[in-house]
Formats: sequence, C-alpha cells, structure tokens
Amino acid sequence: MTQDAIPDLPEYNDSALDQAFAALAKQATDEAAAIATPDHLEAFRLRWVGRKQGRLNDVSARWLKAAPTNAKKAVGERFKTLKDLVDDLLDKAAGAGPSDAALAAEAIDITLPGTRRLTGAEHPITRTMNEIVSVFAALGYSVGVGPEVETDFYNFESMNFPPGHPARDTQDTLVIAGQERRPLRDRLLLRTHTSPVQMRTMELQPPPVRIVIPGTVHRNDAMDATHSPIFHQVEGLCVDTNITFSDLKGTLDHAMKALFGSSVKTRFFPSFFPFTEPSADVQISCIFCGGKGCRKCKFSGWIELLGCGMVDPAVFAFAQEKQPAYDPKRISGFAFGMGVERIAMMKYGISEIGQFYAGDMRFLNQFV
Ligand SMILES: [Zn+2]
Repeated sequence: MTQDAIPDLPEYNDSALDQAFAALAKQATDEAAAIATPDHLEAFRLRWVGRKQGRLNDVSARWLKAAPTNAKKAVGERFKTLKDLVDDLLDKAAGAGPSDAALAAEAIDITLPGTRRLTGAEHPITRTMNEIVSVFAALGYSVGVGPEVETDFYNFESMNFPPGHPARDTQDTLVIAGQERRPLRDRLLLRTHTSPVQMRTMELQPPPVRIVIPGTVHRNDAMDATHSPIFHQVEGLCVDTNITFSDLKGTLDHAMKALFGSSVKTRFFPSFFPFTEPSADVQISCIFCGGKGCRKCKFSGWIELLGCGMVDPAVFAFAQEKQPAYDPKRISGFAFGMGVERIAMMKYGISEIGQFYAGDMRFLNQFV
C-alpha cells in the first residue's frame, strides 16, 4: 500500500470528478482484494477511514470542503458513493474471520472456577432411615420393600390381628373406598405398619431370613407435635433355627449403641403386639442427660424407642401356607420395629414432626 497523498483537484467539472473518484475507487478495491490477514485488514481500515490520516478524511478536506459552492453537490454525491464502497469493502474483508482483538475479547479463561450448582442432599428422614438400615446391613441383613396399598390379609390377618380383634383399634386405618363386596382379607387399605413385608418376605423365601424393611406407613391420626398421618418405620425380621430372646436383646443393644453411641444402655419391658410372643418395649438410657434425669426423659433417665418380640407361632402358621419350612417346632425368630421420625427428632433435637414434611428450605438446609 502506498502512502500517496490526495492531490488537489484541478477542475470541478463532471468528467474530472468522475475520473478522480474512479481512480480512488479502483485503488480501494484493489487494496481490499489484497487483504489476507487481520493485520492487513486493520491497516486498510486505518488508511481509508482512520480518523487522522484516513484517505476519506483527506478527500473530504481537500475536495469537498475546497469545492466552489456550485460544485459541492456533485462532489458530495461522489464522495458518498466512495465512502459506501469503502464501508462495503471493509465489511466483506472483516467477514473473512474475526480479528485477534475480537478473539481475545471472547476468550474463556478455563482456569476460573466454574458456576457452582446446588447439589441435592438427603432429607433428614431418608438419612436417618439409611443410618438405621446400614447398622443392620453390617450385621448381614438384607433390605426388603413392599406395597403401601396393602390387603387386610397382609396388614392385619397374617400378622395375627384376626377380624374383630381389639388390637386393630390401636391402628386407626385409612381404607380404600368401594371394597365392601370383597372378602375382608382382600380389601385394600393403606398399610399401618411395615410388618406386612415380614409375611411377604417369608412367603417368597424359606428360612433363614434376616431382613430390614424401611418404608412409609399411614394412619388416620390427627397431626400434632409428635403425630402425623404419614410417617416412616424400619421393621426387622430374623428367622433361623435356635434364635432366642437373648439374640434379640444382643442385636438391638448393638444397634442402639451403633445409632446413639457406645455409652447408651438398653432395657426391655414386657409389652403386647399381636405378631410377637413374648413382646417387649425397648428403652434406651436418655441420650440428653446420660440417665441422670431431664425434661426430655421426664426425669426417668430412660426413653422408650421401639417395640420387639419373638415371632408368634400363629404368624409362622400363615407363612407355612406357602413355605412349609416355617414350622414353629423347628425354627424361631424375632421381629422389631421403630419409628424413623421419633429417632430423627431425638438425634437432631427437633420438636415438631410437621417440620419434616413442610418443605421449608431453612429447616432442610441444616441437614445439607
Ligand atoms: Zn434425660
């Protein structure tokens, strides 16, 4: 590219103007055709439209401003055409590829930390349920699940709650409507405990059985600080030859120490459940005061936490209908069940059960 200056115009008639502008247009077109790199493009831009030394500025100053009044229009029109041509040439040349400056402006610094996404976290109920399950998984228990819509047979009858038995009244049941024509044992309800999965498991596999059953259960209970119509249980069942009550005590004592710390003590009180005989309530030494007595344990030093017992032979009799090996003369077993919410409330110091289900992020974020 030559740095040739714009000469003064000798004349302002049409043919002289056409000739002068045509020469510049050819010059610009030729130079634009030679552009091969972003540097060439930038040099072309400075040479033609640069603010200080640009040729268009020169043309404007020497030809347009110097033109006699009667020639201004003719020069102006031709100047405009030339300017449009140079703009076009610049646009076309720029389309060949982005300049280094443009690339640098768009560059991504891959060493910067990325955008942080919120990761999910376990709900405190799920976390507690998993903790309980893992304690028993470490003892060789497998995990079982079953349907939440259950038949009367599995939820009650096979668990030794005969029709009309008063023990049914202790579990206020939500039943599915429109079942009246079916036999009682086939009627559908929302399971009131995870115990029906005991029977479903025994029907599918002969002894030995070691299984924990986490799950959701439903009762027609009004919501208050410690009750909810939906809550969660973890059930356990162990069946084998020569299973005794001391196996039950040893297993639950170990589990409570694993869940609440090795200094926790357990004690067993006689109780009643239709599907175990004998049955027991299990208390642990108060985890808040260590057994000295405080408001949380009503100054007794003990907190009642779960129910358990030796599997009632009547339950084995129902299992025998599909698996003859559940002969109560040859095998024995124990079962236990605990409320997940109750344990989670104790572990995390939660006073309202409803907080688990409210979906309040301020509550849930504490468990992330
Ligand atoms: Zn206490």
